[in-house]
Amino acid sequence: MATTNDSKAPLRQVKRVQFGILSPDEIRRMSVTEGGIRFPETMEGGRPKLGGLMDPRQGVIDRSSRCQTCAGNMTECPGHFGHIDLAKPVFHIGFITKTIKVLRCVCFYCSKLLVSPTNPKIKEVVMKSKGQPRKRLTYVYDLCKGKNICEGGEDMDIGKEGDEGKRGSGHGGCGHYQPSIRRQGLDLTAEWKHPNEDTQEKKITITAERVWEILKHITGEYIIFYFLSVYICIAGILSIVCTVHCFQMFKSIFKNI
Ligand SMILES: [Zn+2]
Ligand SMILES: [Zn+2]
Repeated sequence: MATTNDSKAPLRQVKRVQFGILSPDEIRRMSVTEGGIRFPETMEGGRPKLGGLMDPRQGVIDRSSRCQTCAGNMTECPGHFGHIDLAKPVFHIGFITKTIKVLRCVCFYCSKLLVSPTNPKIKEVVMKSKGQPRKRLTYVYDLCKGKNICEGGEDMDIGKEGDEGKRGSGHGGCGHYQPSIRRQGLDLTAEWKHPNEDTQEKKITITAERVWEILKHITGEYIIFYFLSVYICIAGILSIVCTVHCFQMFKSIFKNI
């Protein structure tokens, strides 16, 4: 295994690179700052503060010290990821457009896809977008964006001839009217043309917490078939954990496989 003069970290041949988003659990698992970074201070008594932004477990910042994770010096230590547990979910600005797209495809209340998976058009989309997850989301979005009600409550499903009696069960939507979702700066708003009787909401600002609740309840089946490329993002869109690295605060997160 080869090494270079820059670092003693072993070199490995990269076979494939896949870009994606780490889930909160993955971030916590790879983090060296157990319990998270809890203090905004970087130094204490002239040394990097444990649990601070420059936590010494993430690497060394001067020539005279050793890393608290790998015991390496400045040239030997490759640097290690830490993390911050955020108090509340926040939007990930890089995924806000996709977040809105997914939100417009699913019910605001029960997270079901706004078009039944048994709909022949959805089947067609699945066929023609095989292996092209980005296109699939666009096609599904085109089918869902005009829907302003979550169809397919039990009454609606039973005896629906158009669906050729698929195992007697539709996708069982909740029947709620859907809001139009718009972005205003960094805020998302939901506005109802037809307010629902039980909620009476007309126009609200959607918090990241509410979006997180909606996305979290999208079932695995929908994620796998319709939002393939964004399934990892759903965990990451509203990062409840963010990675911190001593030297590369906003380094792209990638996985070598
Ligand atoms: Zn180290
Ligand atoms: Zn619904």
